[in-house]
Amino acid sequence: MELKIRNLRKDYGNFPALNGVNLDIRSGELIALLGPSGSGKTTLLRAIAGLESPDGGQIFFGDNDASRQSVQHRHVGFVFQHYALFRHMKVLDNIAFGMRHGQGPKQSEAVIRKRVLELLDLVQLNGLEGRYPAQLSGGQRQRVALARALAIEPKVLLLDEPFGALDAQVRKGLRRWLRQIHEETGHTTVFVTHDQEEAMELSDRVAVLHKGDLQQVGTPDEIYDSP
Ligand code: ADP
Ligand code: ADP
Repeated sequence: MELKIRNLRKDYGNFPALNGVNLDIRSGELIALLGPSGSGKTTLLRAIAGLESPDGGQIFFGDNDASRQSVQHRHVGFVFQHYALFRHMKVLDNIAFGMRHGQGPKQSEAVIRKRVLELLDLVQLNGLEGRYPAQLSGGQRQRVALARALAIEPKVLLLDEPFGALDAQVRKGLRRWLRQIHEETGHTTVFVTHDQEEAMELSDRVAVLHKGDLQQVGTPDEIYDSP
């Protein structure tokens, strides 16, 4: 799904969190929103998801004006920094949650289970469907969170500093892993990070935000001057 962001504004009081942002996100690309804390990355991601109402401008999903679409209708998958798994549910039920309670046709438990096991294979957590979140490492929990987001077959996958709470070693491994998953599944993906190296390594293009303004957009090679 292609996204068009036109002159998007969000004001929280004194200064704009988004100051008229224009950005085209191509179908199937992985784009990183990069910028320091407070630059508007999360606000932009939440506006795309429909979790935040802009004060001006428009977002298009393909040709559809998103202001006419509810959160459910946008059909996005969201992964948060702090995993937000349901702690009283096993991995299987966490991943199945959107399929059981979300949009789309009602599916049998057998179909849901099969799909969950496929997703566990994709995120390399085979055999862990019966565990509770507390029985997983931080990196494993984020892989469950990604599987849950993918389970609804989202039109757009939104990741808000998904590895931000993990230590450097785990984060490095997960970056490469996410890149692989992206190549296998081909979802249009928006990835928020304040880590330049992470943005470079992961993304097809980087969009740099500063104080609510989009400063540059390009491939890592276009953005960074390498020695
Ligand atoms: P980033 O994700 O780049 O750290 P945010 O999008 O979270 O930036 O925030 C952009 C600006 O908007 C910051 O100045 C932040 O303090 C402000 N902001 C974000 N959310 C709110 C809110 N709910 N109420 C007031 N100000 C907010
Ligand atoms: P509601 O009354 O349910 O909040 P709205 O009609 O205000 O519904 O908005 C529907 C959804 O679209 C909400 O999730 C809102 O955050 C979002 N939204 C509202 N205005 C815009 C806009 N200009 N661009 C993108 N999304 C918008």
